[in-house]
Amino acid sequence: MTTSENLVLVINCGSSSIKYQLLEPQSGEVAASGLVERIGEDDSAVEHHCGRRVLERSGRIPDHRAGLQQVFELFDETGFDLAGAGLRAVGHRVVHGGEVFHEPTPVTDEVVATILALADLAPLHNPPNAIGIESVRELLPGVPQVAVFDTAFFFHLPAAAATYAIDRKVAAEYGIRRYGFHGTSHEYVSGRAAEFLGRDPKQLRQIIFHLGNGASASAVRGGRPIDTSMGLTPLEGLVMGTRPGDLDPGILGHLAHAGGFDVERIDELLNRESGLKGMAGVNDFRELRRLIDAGDENARLAYDVYVHRLRRYLGAYLVALGGVDVITFTAGVGENNPDVRADALAGLSAFGIEVDQELNTSEDRSARRISPPDAPVAVLVVPTNEELAIARAASRVVTSA
Ligand code: ADP
Repeated sequence: MTTSENLVLVINCGSSSIKYQLLEPQSGEVAASGLVERIGEDDSAVEHHCGRRVLERSGRIPDHRAGLQQVFELFDETGFDLAGAGLRAVGHRVVHGGEVFHEPTPVTDEVVATILALADLAPLHNPPNAIGIESVRELLPGVPQVAVFDTAFFFHLPAAAATYAIDRKVAAEYGIRRYGFHGTSHEYVSGRAAEFLGRDPKQLRQIIFHLGNGASASAVRGGRPIDTSMGLTPLEGLVMGTRPGDLDPGILGHLAHAGGFDVERIDELLNRESGLKGMAGVNDFRELRRLIDAGDENARLAYDVYVHRLRRYLGAYLVALGGVDVITFTAGVGENNPDVRADALAGLSAFGIEVDQELNTSEDRSARRISPPDAPVAVLVVPTNEELAIARAASRVVTSA
């Protein structure tokens, strides 16, 4: 039975947004959820879902604290007093755990200070994450808070996969290594894939493609990651909505010398003006498809670059793992775009990798197999659920405390 003592509030403070869910960690049942957008601008907006009710608010929200305050008021309006409910825990998504955090961690003053001290590595994300934690500690005194790090799953990557080939003294001084991101999703999805197949994760070699606005791949053996495509920051690896993924680092020096680009301009280019958006003018795959169907050549090329990069990582991980048992697609594009899945895996039957067209284009949205039942490699689509994974992690930490 769902009582408020079983519920966990999950909070994800982005650079200008707050996503939240109140849910029951065992069943995954969601009691309420919502989104605060465009924090710091004049047209901030809040959308709060509670059962069948949807409440909307608009008007300037100056900062994350004010955003959370408003979320708490919306809970009140729907008859749910968060402060009085005796919630089990609050789980916070924190982007960068650096070399410090490698598991869900109960929040203390020192933990918040360390998250802030790691802001050099994630300037857009760690500060709002810390502000979110501090605000909720004030708003919900006495409710245990747990930080769940996006980098944690990849903390123990083998050194050969985690190390950049630069001067090791420089690397050590500036914390330069491959940290990896989307770890909560890769961990959850690799576990769900094994569960779906009824197999022991310890026996499986898995490749996971998390393809959302941000995109990353991982190679997982025996339940532990051995490689991942994102690095020091979430810029490396696959082509993304607005980020380029892998680049020749010489490009940056060239832009500085030939174009007078400074660090801020380069940051803008790489974070907001690259990827599908940079190549085709749009970052949403549905719009990209419309442009391709209308004969837009830039859109076609952007799609081909996207798929080519996926196949490169697939090949690399196939070899790194010494073969693969399961390939899983997840997140917005991975779950909803059959073309990307089919094109990424086309012509690989020599490797035991096949996609069944009918299964691939089915309307089913639950975890499912899209390879023929007798194909040696299981190709799956598994919906990710980072909120549930965070809620379960937070609940686990509180129980064992
Ligand atoms: P993030 O959490 O990284 O912001 P999501 O995992 O929600 O991203 O993925 C967002 C992307 O997924 C969108 O930009 C869009 O390209 C793609 N997407 C979402 N729904 C669909 C759909 N029904 N068909 C095709 N692409 C979709």
